[in-house]
Amino acid sequence: MPMNYQKILDEIYDEIQPELQHGKVADYIPALAEIEKGQFAMTVTLEDGAVYSVGDSTKKFSIQSISKVFTFTLALEIYSKELYKRVGVEPSGNAFNSLVQLEYEHGIPRNPFINAGAIIITDTLITHYKDPDKTLKVLLYFMRKISGNPKLSIDKEVANSEMEYGDRNLALARLMRSFGNFENEVQSTVMTYFNHCAITMSTEELSRAMLFLAFGGIDPVSKKIFISSSKAKRINAMMLTCGHYDASGEFAFHVGLPAKSGVGGGIVATVPGEMSIAVWSPALNKYGNSHAGTLALEMFTTKTGLSIF
Ligand code: GLN
Repeated sequence: MPMNYQKILDEIYDEIQPELQHGKVADYIPALAEIEKGQFAMTVTLEDGAVYSVGDSTKKFSIQSISKVFTFTLALEIYSKELYKRVGVEPSGNAFNSLVQLEYEHGIPRNPFINAGAIIITDTLITHYKDPDKTLKVLLYFMRKISGNPKLSIDKEVANSEMEYGDRNLALARLMRSFGNFENEVQSTVMTYFNHCAITMSTEELSRAMLFLAFGGIDPVSKKIFISSSKAKRINAMMLTCGHYDASGEFAFHVGLPAKSGVGGGIVATVPGEMSIAVWSPALNKYGNSHAGTLALEMFTTKTGLSIF
């Protein structure tokens, strides 16, 4: 018998309510500090495009580090294995914005999902597209195609607010540059990174956008091939091992799905061959991952028995 996903999401919605006030919104980005806790949305998209949602599933939020999945996808498509000369594929075991490891590992970030790695990915894209604006344009074009929303946009207020307090990310970029691992101008590259983090999307849009990664790089609805199955496999592996920074092990242990979080409170996940999921609740745990979002995904895999293990 097919599973009743709407019923499962409705149950999660009720059970998650007491958790929504726990944690803290990302106040180190002033434009995100005012977001109200207590908000929650979750969407599941199946192979045939069927959508099940609960909560504020059309409300847009700042996708932040979830954008790193899409920039990594583009860079992997362009550079293939060459990319790994500039960024590694190992979990960092450190906070997403840590400088320490980068120093003793000579400016090569551990993976494309910590900030240093994502800034390098942005740098490789700017080199390829020859200019920051073109890079953002191509990225938005790609994300509009995979999400089916031709109007996705960047919240400039969030991007500018991040630049104003962006010393740590600028420091990461400068440190990498000092080791010779940087190709473009630091300020505009980091600004491009802040811009892609500041794209706003709803759980419905994000869940739809992740569907191709749940199905080996092919959108199962439109049948469009976005990336090879071998690359889709690697992106999923990266989400599983590095998608939640220094809480990636804990997330795999409790949830058991490839997933990527962002400090806007969103998390995207894939159940390979089955579905894509997006969840949002803005209050974060101490690792910078959505507190209620993580718990909701754990409830989902417990109730459905869907996990990659
Ligand atoms: N733009 C945020 C930053 O660079 C992204 C961090 C995140 O979502 N974990 O700090």
